[in-house]
Amino acid sequence: MRKTFLKTAQKALLTMREQLLLDIRSEQKTGRDAQKDEGMDAYDVASEERDRDIGTILSDRDRTKLQAIDAALERIRGGIYGVCEECELEIAPDRLKALPFTRLCVVCQGDREREARLTRRPDEDRGIRRLQVGETDEEG
Ligand SMILES: [Zn+2]
Repeated sequence: MRKTFLKTAQKALLTMREQLLLDIRSEQKTGRDAQKDEGMDAYDVASEERDRDIGTILSDRDRTKLQAIDAALERIRGGIYGVCEECELEIAPDRLKALPFTRLCVVCQGDREREARLTRRPDEDRGIRRLQVGETDEEG
């Protein structure tokens, strides 16, 4: 992996991370403004906001994304960025440009998605017909 590419990826990841945190903060602010009328005075709000850890206010989706970004930044630092977790081949630069925090190459990602679809399919065994026993003609 070229150094300039890593730099670009790192920059993209840091920008994404910043943007995500900004989004979370503004969402948080909107929610808080709506709550203001419910009997909280300004001092309570301020102290609560300070005490609150960013990790506790994240939605699952935001947390997953933030973790993926952090993990990718970690891989850049560790010098293993851009290597597929599954097959250990290099992930195509175009894919990394589009999805800087991806950990899988396009082939393995496809496999994983297919697997997820298969395992998630409800009532999977309903279509399997039971073998009818006792209907075979035994000669003798
Ligand atoms: Zn792979």
